[in-house]
Amino acid sequence: MKVALLSGGVGGARFARGLVSAVDPAGVTVIGNVGDDLDVLGLAVSPDLDSILYALAGLHDEERGWGRADESWRALETVSALGGEDWFRLGDRDLGLHLVRSQALRSGEPLSTVTARLARSLGIEAAIVPATDDRLRTWIDTPAGSFPFQEWFVARGHRDEVDRVRFEGPAEGTARPAPGVLEALAGADAIVIAPSNPYVSIWPILAVEEIRAALAGRGVPCVAVSPLVGGRAVKGPADRMLARMAGGTTPEHVAGCYEGLIDALVVDESDPAGPLAVRRIVTRTLMTDLDASRRLAETVLGAAA
Ligand code: GDP
Ligand code: CA
Repeated sequence: MKVALLSGGVGGARFARGLVSAVDPAGVTVIGNVGDDLDVLGLAVSPDLDSILYALAGLHDEERGWGRADESWRALETVSALGGEDWFRLGDRDLGLHLVRSQALRSGEPLSTVTARLARSLGIEAAIVPATDDRLRTWIDTPAGSFPFQEWFVARGHRDEVDRVRFEGPAEGTARPAPGVLEALAGADAIVIAPSNPYVSIWPILAVEEIRAALAGRGVPCVAVSPLVGGRAVKGPADRMLARMAGGTTPEHVAGCYEGLIDALVVDESDPAGPLAVRRIVTRTLMTDLDASRRLAETVLGAAA
C-alpha cells in the first residue's frame, strides 16, 4: 500500500511512527512542513523535518516531544555564556545534524536531497520530503504585531492570539513542490493529513499551489486526523487558533480548515457529534505510545480503503 502523509512536527511525527509500523515503510512518503524553518547561529534548522527524522529513526525524545533522546546542552551553555543567540534550544546531538545540513545547503544541495540523505544515513525506509525546496516561511499576525513563526512560537511562547497566518516566499505563490511530492500524491492509494496544527503545520504545505491542486483533484481518498481531543489541543495552540479564527473547536471547525480537500475526518471519541460535511470516523486518537499510534494509523487506512 502506498501512502502520502502531510505532516508537521510533534503530532505528525507521532502519527508517522504508527503509520510505518502499520504498513510497509517503503510505500510511505512523508511530506513535511518547512514554514517553521529558520536560521539559528548561522545554521539551517528544519524543526518539523527533524521531528519526523528523529521519530522514524527512533532517536526522538518521547517526553519533550521534540529533539533527540539522551540529549545534552553544552554547546548552548557556551553560546549563552558568550552572550550568543540562545532563545532557540539546540542540543549537542541535534547540532550535529544541523551542521551537516547547513554545509550541504551552502554547497548548493537542495533541501530535499539533503533530507533524503539524512533519512538514509539514519536507516529510515520511508521517504521524507520537504513540501518545497523553495523558501516558504510562516508569519503570524497578532494584535501585538507580525512575527516570523518561531519568534511567535518559541521566543514569545505563542502567548499572542492569532488573527491571521501568512506564508512568505521569494515571490508569493510561486514555491514549487519538491521533487517527489507530486509523484507521491499521484501514486498514493491513500492521502493522509496527520493530527498536526492545521494553520501552522498543514496550511504551509497547502500554500504550495500545486500541492493544494493535487489534493483538490485527488483520485484517491484523503483522510485527515483531528489534532484535538475533547476540543483541546494535546499540545500547543491549535485549539486557541481554531477558536479565534474558525469560531470553534468542534470537528466541523477542524474539517473547515480542509474544505474540498478531505473525504473523511478521524476524531476522538470525546469530541462532540454534530453536522459534518465529510465522513466522520470516531476512535481514540491519543497517541500515548507506539501501539496507540499504530492503531490510529490502521483506523485511518481502514477509512481510506
Ligand atoms: P509541531 O509542528 O511540532 O507543532 O507539530 P504538529 O503540528 O505536527 O502537531 C501539533 C499538534 O499535534 C497539536 O495540535 C496537538 O494537539 C496534536 N497532537 C499531539 N499529540 C497528539 C495525539 O496523541 N493525538 C492527537 N489527536 N493529536 C495530537
Ligand atoms: Ca512545526
